[in-house]
Order: sequence, then structure tokens, then C-alpha cells
Amino acid sequence: MSGLLAWSAVTALAPGHPIGQLAPQSWAVGAVLATGAALLPDLDHPGSTISRTFGAISQGLSTGINTISGLVYRATRAKRDSNRDGGHRGLTHTLVFALLATLGTTAVVQTSQKWALPALMFVFCGLTVRGIMNDWCPKQDALWITGLSAAMTWACVVWTAQTPASAAACGIAVGIGCVAHYVGDAVTEQGCPVLWPVPIAGKRWYPVAPPKKMRMRTGGRVELGIVGPIVTGLSVWLAAAALQNAGLMPFLGAFDLLPI
Ligand SMILES: [Zn+2]
Repeated sequence: MSGLLAWSAVTALAPGHPIGQLAPQSWAVGAVLATGAALLPDLDHPGSTISRTFGAISQGLSTGINTISGLVYRATRAKRDSNRDGGHRGLTHTLVFALLATLGTTAVVQTSQKWALPALMFVFCGLTVRGIMNDWCPKQDALWITGLSAAMTWACVVWTAQTPASAAACGIAVGIGCVAHYVGDAVTEQGCPVLWPVPIAGKRWYPVAPPKKMRMRTGGRVELGIVGPIVTGLSVWLAAAALQNAGLMPFLGAFDLLPI
């Protein structure tokens, strides 16, 4: 949900910038990509829910990412960095990764709207469905998620047939989703090494986090009872405002959802 909020906020609050003037099709594709991308960094954890999205295939991929991440961590570790494995909360939890994901997505979408975009959408639809409906149908969920992702991808392909999605917007959406994940990790866990490989206090994997008082427990009462509903409410409101900017809510007339 934090990925959707970040995407909605950026697109709704920048009406004078090209990212705030997307066609509804590009906005919707971006919304799915950003929501899915907010889970992408945890593919470095083979045991995470997200790694089970597409069953054995995504779990195999996750094991590979975990291995590479661990190698990079140990190869670039400074003296003061903790002596951890580094496979999880390593490379995929850095701004370098967010930038690479942004550029990679833009390149992929630019290459082929016909084939690459649907393939990308399918993967991110899976992450989105898995992320939003975390506890859904635990036994056969990989099959269900695959089916639902395919249906959502098909809907997107039909919708973007006339007005192609903006490649740059797709890339930015993925980058925004990753950054939303880092913020979430920093306020709920022991920090996130977003600034790697910049050396800070003798560490290259410095865990960036707000002061202890401002952090909360994962799945705790503050997160589920207060932050969750606020993030959901803000997402819906700002998404509606962004779509109003795109001209999709003519029935609201002169009523401005976001008077800025
Ligand atoms: Zn994470």
C-alpha cells in the first residue's frame, strides 16, 4: 500500500510536471508497477511471502538474488559493518538498486510495448496481488495469483492498446515503489542500507533509520491500527485526485479533490 501511496502522491502533487500529467492508462500501469515494486526488494529473502508469489520459479530466483546480495555485501563490507550474511537487506535495499530498477524498467518498456510491457506487468501484478492480499488462499495461492495476474495483465494490454504507456513513467513508478519499501523498512526494522556504498561512520552498509522513538514494530498495534488505515486512506484520496487531474472524474464537476 505504501508503493501506491508514493505513486499517487508524486503524480497528484506535481500537476505542473510531466509525471503529473499522465494519461489515465499510463497512470494505472504505473500504479500497479509501484505497488508491486514496493515488495520487490524483499525478493532477496527466499523465505519471504513475496518469494512464494509464483511458487518454485520465484523461490529459485529469490535464492539466486540472495546469493548475489550476500557476495556483494561481503565483498564491499567495511571494518565497522556488522558481520552478517548480507543476503537479505543488502543490495536490493539500496538507492543504487532503485536507480538500476528504474533504468532497467524504462529500457524494457521502450524496447517493446507489445511483449516486454505485458511480461513486466504480469510479474508486478503478481507481486501486487500477493502484497495486498497477504493471507489469501495459502494452499493453492501460486496458481490463483498466476491466474489473477494474467487477467489483470490482459486488462492492461487492452487498455493501453490505443494509448501506449510512457516508458519513463513506468521506470519512475518502479523506482518510487522501491523507495517506499526502504522507508517502510527504516521505520519498522533496524534500518535500511539505502546509501551504500557511501561510507558513513566507518560503514558502507550504514543502516539509515529515524531516531528510535519514531520507529514501530512490524505488524504491531501502531502499524496495523494507525499507520495502515492512514496510508490506505491517503492512497485512495491521492489516487482519486491524480485521476481527476487526468480528466477521469468529470462527474465531480468543479469540485477539486486536491486544491493546490
Ligand atoms: Zn525489506
